[in-house]
Amino acid sequence: MPKYIEAFKKGNLRKKIEALMRMEENCCICPRRCGVNRLKNKTGYCRTGLFAKVYSYAPHKGEEPVISGKNGSGTIFFSGCNLNCCYCQNYQFSQLDEGKEVNKETLCDMMLELQKQKCHNINLVTPTHVSAQILDALELAITKGLNIPIVYNTSGYELPEVIEILNNVVDIYLVDMRYGDTKLATKYSNATDYTEYNQQSVKEMFKQAPSAKIENGIMTEGIIIRHLVLPQDIGATERIAEFISKALSKGIHISLMSQYFPFCNAKKYPEINRRITKKEYAQAKVIMKKYGLTNGWVQEDNGLIDLAGVNLKRNI
Ligand code: SF4
Ligand code: SF4
Repeated sequence: MPKYIEAFKKGNLRKKIEALMRMEENCCICPRRCGVNRLKNKTGYCRTGLFAKVYSYAPHKGEEPVISGKNGSGTIFFSGCNLNCCYCQNYQFSQLDEGKEVNKETLCDMMLELQKQKCHNINLVTPTHVSAQILDALELAITKGLNIPIVYNTSGYELPEVIEILNNVVDIYLVDMRYGDTKLATKYSNATDYTEYNQQSVKEMFKQAPSAKIENGIMTEGIIIRHLVLPQDIGATERIAEFISKALSKGIHISLMSQYFPFCNAKKYPEINRRITKKEYAQAKVIMKKYGLTNGWVQEDNGLIDLAGVNLKRNI
């Protein structure tokens, strides 16, 4: 049974929704701490007011094998973002805000529709700035029969105190660790404090889900850390690997991604205005192995979307 159902039965889900809504009144939902009143539809860095905006929702078969399974993961792509990565693959909706505002009834219906299509989970993509709205819709969806795990698919620019509120609600954290170096996060994603908040938040996620539950090849509980390999080691891969192996666990699931493509404003930075080389990706794999991180997946063919789904144990 998904964690959120238990939270709903105990009356904790409502308390968590109210706590998050209160944070939106003087918005401090994420490290930007814009201080705007989202409940009055004011907007801050993420350009999102009272209502969540959705770009698209559909079953998605290109996630990690334990997330997509045979039937696909029920992805809901939210518009707006609290980061501003110059190479963003989803810039049409993360930065140009394409999409439609949805109330909780519509968001609830999307979740139920994805469940009806036999998706293995509800995969909330870029959920940070709309966590309150998501939980509000989730509560309604529970009363209408939602019973598949939820995946919190985040860039990892999160406040640990918000992640604490999500304890016993989120089943699976699918979290990026983009940069191990603050200067790089500042330059390429306009987040001076990304590394610090990212590491603290991932620690909290790991505390909530220290061991993964996988049933019939599908994850129902746990954490997967995604690391997108960037040109010229812009992400500081070794620092991230060292953090994971020392502060978390060597057994944690890692998804080492090779799909980087210089979308959006990457052309303004010649050093990242290209795809990664095979050598750069091979080097990242060597680093993972050096720190004992051998559980998870690699993308072997440099493809844009498809994960090879190959266990690192056999490949690095
Ligand atoms: S969620 Fe949006 S408005 Fe709130 S602090 Fe973050 S960026 Fe600012
Ligand atoms: S790549 Fe960066 S800007 Fe784009 S959606 Fe992800 S976190 Fe947001």
